Amino acid sequence: MGLFHCPLGAPYYDDDACIDCGLCYAKTSEERVEASRKIREYMKAHAPRTSAVSKVAICGKGGSGKTTVVALLTLALKEAGRRVIVIDADESNPGLGRMLGIIGEPKPLSDLFNEDGLFSERERFYMDDIPPGFVSAVDGVRFMAVGKILDPFQGCACSLAESARQIVEKLELKEGEVLILDMEAGVESFGRGVERHADTILIVVEPSFESIMVAGRIAQMAQGMGIGRVGAILNKVAPDAMASRTTKELEKKDVKVLGILNYSPELAEAAFEGTPVKYGVAVTEAGTIVSALM
Ligand code: SF4
Repeated sequence: MGLFHCPLGAPYYDDDACIDCGLCYAKTSEERVEASRKIREYMKAHAPRTSAVSKVAICGKGGSGKTTVVALLTLALKEAGRRVIVIDADESNPGLGRMLGIIGEPKPLSDLFNEDGLFSERERFYMDDIPPGFVSAVDGVRFMAVGKILDPFQGCACSLAESARQIVEKLELKEGEVLILDMEAGVESFGRGVERHADTILIVVEPSFESIMVAGRIAQMAQGMGIGRVGAILNKVAPDAMASRTTKELEKKDVKVLGILNYSPELAEAAFEGTPVKYGVAVTEAGTIVSALM
């Protein structure tokens, strides 16, 4: 099994990083489940013990509004005095850069890790170490992207996921910096262990059966990885009983709701146009979520 598939990032079986979980040579689904159990136990035992909110992965079902939430939280964190670094780790959806007000997309981080062998061999790096072409900035917010699947026959997204995992693991944050990741939809990235080094998982949930089910699965996986801070943000909630019904369903799955973004015209307009949300109720609500989080 190669570098892109080992959840612990071991480049080959029997490497120092390999714990002999058995995934490499598993032939049946029972053997894969057993390998997953061993990896989870290892990850839990070696999870970073930090009380600070510094590496935050935004997850959820496709269409739940992750990108809009990332843009809003970025704004709120900036208002709270944090220096925000945003990573677009979604290999499909375009538009996060635009929602942040970024002009000029940065070069994909997968190029940096794939082409510069020396860079991927580093155990740690700071933002200052990343070459300028791979970082765009606006109003003090720095933005990077792992890359996108743009063409047919381009190949699988393993190298993009691996780039995201390396960033989460190896980027050393300085005082006041916070990293926000816009993850790909669903749970595949958890299967790859991309979020393993995040300290906070925020699950964006819209009031729908599927979204609640996916949230439950994500929370279970995040806790299985040993990530201590996991919560949900309700999004696109109409001002009626849906918020409490959705909250109750999430509580049944042991998922705590950290905040609510009610449906609002400015949020709908921003989501439709793919433009930054800069004012209105949603901005206030995002500020409340950030205060609760910090
Ligand atoms: S046996 Fe497990 S830990 Fe070792 S390389 Fe394979 S997947 Fe990674």
